Amino acid sequence: MALKINDDCTGCGVCTDIAPDIFKIGDDGLAKVVNANGDPKKAQEAVDSCPVGAISM
Ligand code: SF4
Repeated sequence: MALKINDDCTGCGVCTDIAPDIFKIGDDGLAKVVNANGDPKKAQEAVDSCPVGAISM
């Protein structure tokens, strides 16, 4: 998967709650992709649930 998080991320934690194996909040307080090979269904759920539409895949 070509998962990306853009600069609109607010660090709300929705994606990390949905897919903690794929997303983590970094030292800057914003989400990072830590495992682009995680469950694609969970990744898609995170894409669909991000309140600011910051995740693409
Ligand atoms: S759900 Fe979206 S805004 Fe919230 S931490 Fe994840 S990427 Fe950032």
